[in-house]
Amino acid sequence: MFCKLTAAVFIAAMAVIAASALGAPIPNAARGAVGNSRPAADLIIHDAHIWTVNPKQPEADAVAVLNDRIVAVGSDADVMRWRGPRTRMVDALGKRLLPGFNDAHVHFSDGGASLSAVQLTQVTSLKEFVRRIADYAAHAPKGEWIRNGEWDETKWSPANLPTRQDIDAVTPDNPVAIDRYDGHMLLANSKALALAGITSQTPDPPGGVIVRDASGQPTGALKDAATELLQKVEPPPNPAQRRRALLSALHEAAMRGVTSVQDMSLDYGDLAAYSQLLDEGKLSVRVYGAPLIARVEDQAQLGLGRAFGDPSLRIGALKMFADGSLGSRTAYFTEPYSDEQGNRGLLFSDMLPLIKAGQRLARADAANLQVCTHAIGDAAIKTVLDLYQAVEKNAGPKDRRWRIEHAQHMAAADFERFAQLHVIASVQPYQAIDDGRWAEARIGHDRASRTYAFRTFMQHGVRLAFGTDWPVAPLDPMLTLYAAVTRATLDGKYPQGWFPEQKLSIREAIAAYTIGSAYAEFQESEKGSIEPGKLADMVLLSQDVLNIAPAAIRDTHVVKTFLGGVEVYDAAAPRE
Ligand SMILES: [Zn+2]
Repeated sequence: MFCKLTAAVFIAAMAVIAASALGAPIPNAARGAVGNSRPAADLIIHDAHIWTVNPKQPEADAVAVLNDRIVAVGSDADVMRWRGPRTRMVDALGKRLLPGFNDAHVHFSDGGASLSAVQLTQVTSLKEFVRRIADYAAHAPKGEWIRNGEWDETKWSPANLPTRQDIDAVTPDNPVAIDRYDGHMLLANSKALALAGITSQTPDPPGGVIVRDASGQPTGALKDAATELLQKVEPPPNPAQRRRALLSALHEAAMRGVTSVQDMSLDYGDLAAYSQLLDEGKLSVRVYGAPLIARVEDQAQLGLGRAFGDPSLRIGALKMFADGSLGSRTAYFTEPYSDEQGNRGLLFSDMLPLIKAGQRLARADAANLQVCTHAIGDAAIKTVLDLYQAVEKNAGPKDRRWRIEHAQHMAAADFERFAQLHVIASVQPYQAIDDGRWAEARIGHDRASRTYAFRTFMQHGVRLAFGTDWPVAPLDPMLTLYAAVTRATLDGKYPQGWFPEQKLSIREAIAAYTIGSAYAEFQESEKGSIEPGKLADMVLLSQDVLNIAPAAIRDTHVVKTFLGGVEVYDAAAPRE
């Protein structure tokens, strides 16, 4: 199992790779050899249907792995020449093997914590919402904060926001701060509001809204920057809670065939927990972390630059926010929301004032740090492109790989600018089939036609990186592939696809989720395709997603997941 891959073994393995790369003799006599002096593979997966995502050799039957790297890809006969007496043989039984999925945008510890938190995402009525919170609170230790939840009022009728009065009676002993699934709004109970000192007299903070009732009293719903008022009194998770959350998240990732994650808004406590798990040989996913840009000085002072670290754990990116979300009506648009007079959304506090945002961006750029900026509404995206353009104009061209996270609602004129500035669109296709249920009512047909416009991005030569924003959407890549290929909204109203001209082919979608995401973290020469020299991160699937009806993609499950040639998940293994 993966946990037995100790750091010492890992270092020894790297020494072998380094030695072989230099043409030096392989020091490990115990390994066994084939042919003259070539070492035998540690692992061969044969009788597979491999889609490599390497355009030079798209299809193959077998792959050989030495240490944590791929050494051969080809026909069964070719690859069998790497077989030695101790080579582990895995018969794929003709199933589809792909590069491991790289989720370019997750909140990993939140995702892990959400697996064991109160489950509200599927709730379809206020009554059920209150019942689930009551059940959860009845078993929660007194005084402990009730968090996560990921509720979505658009699944209820009428789709009104919940209020503190709805939940106060069932949560007498616990402060509550449960997230809306988009992460841009939360619902607090009266106890939590009192702890934070939020009253009718508290002004809305810049970039945030305290939702109020007709008499001016806070309803408990807090949007964007207003959620920070609560975070000041909410205790951060302790190291044991973080570790538990990350271990749950690691299990979920391995089970879903996700071998790399890019952790947005990474908290330093999580970085410490990752480092500890790596040390123990338990970090069964590769992590690239992007702390908030407010902390730019920390990384700038270290002077390490982007994508620094070992392929298992790297830092060197920063997360900035330009606006909120469509669902919370805080995404920032040039024109008002179609269903709310006068509201154009908000620029996030990171953007206020804009001159300061530009200075931080320039500081990050000068320190060679990558910047990933959340921008959803057309005006927010335009603002970020303006900032990016200004820094580039000042500092000159270089390989920056700036990203816009979500890039949801584009102005027609901005696709071309996106391409010219070489900005990466880090997108979450599942949101298209989720928000597609109600987005058109909120922003109208014209703006909706440039929503999650994956095909238009590709036509302009913009690079795509796929992700989920887990726990905003499920971590399961099959759902994301299904969404990108079908654009069939979750409510069943668009079986042929919501704005079907924006659908991608399954091959384009897989590429965005593997090599596209790898490029977005400066790792395209290390991973993202099954080819010799790359890390042996691979996933074996129950169905051939390249050759089944698109609607069936979401019913596919993972048979085995390999990380650096180590099997980190096996569907046939008994659960611990
Ligand atoms: Zn996010």
